[in-house]
Amino acid sequence: MTGPGNGICVHAATEPRPRIGKESVGQALDASAASLSLGTVKLYYLDVTPDFYRIPYIVAYILDPGTPHPLIVVDPGPRNPAAEKLRAALEALGAPRREVVAYATHVHIDHAGSLGSLAKQLGGSLVRVYAHPRGAPHLVDPSKLWRASRSYLGWIAEGYGAPEPLPQDTVAATSDGETHSYGAVRVTVLHTPGHASHHQSIAARVQAGGDPIVLFPGDSAGMAHPAADAVAPTTPPPFRLDMYLESLRRQIALRPSLVAYTHTGPAAPQCLERHLRQVERWRSYFQELGSRVCSAASPEEHLERLRSRDEELDRFIAYAASKSKPLLAALLHSVDGFLDYHRRLAGCSEKQ
Ligand SMILES: [Zn+2]
Repeated sequence: MTGPGNGICVHAATEPRPRIGKESVGQALDASAASLSLGTVKLYYLDVTPDFYRIPYIVAYILDPGTPHPLIVVDPGPRNPAAEKLRAALEALGAPRREVVAYATHVHIDHAGSLGSLAKQLGGSLVRVYAHPRGAPHLVDPSKLWRASRSYLGWIAEGYGAPEPLPQDTVAATSDGETHSYGAVRVTVLHTPGHASHHQSIAARVQAGGDPIVLFPGDSAGMAHPAADAVAPTTPPPFRLDMYLESLRRQIALRPSLVAYTHTGPAAPQCLERHLRQVERWRSYFQELGSRVCSAASPEEHLERLRSRDEELDRFIAYAASKSKPLLAALLHSVDGFLDYHRRLAGCSEKQ
């Protein structure tokens, strides 16, 4: 439901808070990039969606605290096309003379698949990649991750491209709550499992008017599509609803000024609360099914029924999924994750 009390969650630049102005793109950067200024710190976001999606779906971020500090990449995106786009953007900002550090919210190939190729192209200036300890080994040896991605995503995985390995000494496993400072930017890593057991979110507090916090939630807080003014879950199997809700509430408690969604761009913090209500609606739907959750109804049927209860989802599908088959597939995977979680709770596999 939307209404005056719920707040518009997209188009952050038009929101009264935070006071962050949207700027035109620097000439040196690719035309698909845009930027926000936070005092002396710049936040660039690049559309790194493969063509087959047909609409913008994946965004990679670069935070620039200014020299002599490193450029900070968050969720560099899939190998195709992000490795090349990000290399060009980073070079425009001073790499490889400037060092680059990267944070992967998780190792899924649409978020981190470009890292190995990017490290090769930047020739040693990508000095550190921070990942959750359960995800970090898959950046050094992505073979198992690639097999799992191909078997679950099929041709979509092929479209993203196979991730290349990162040098072991580049990858650092994080601990929950650790902080790193880069000039006026102070990064805090939060372990936020639920979407994946190895998920982490990145909170960047910037020394600027009001000390805004930019939250990079990866896939731990759904996705927000600006043109539809709608949020939708990102919850494919093996999804853990209990952990997801705890992680989401923890991120709301941070009171971020801006939510930098990987899918699909910066949005206002109200998105988080709206997504929480949406997840609670989905949970109620599956709980009300009781033992019927074990029946053979397909994710497509459940998606239709959820759509009639969830205006956000209805708007999201009407705008985004109707234009993009891969995006509709992502929504069906989200339904599949809820279904799988509740079927495990109900012990369906033993009954069948
Ligand atoms: Zn993911």
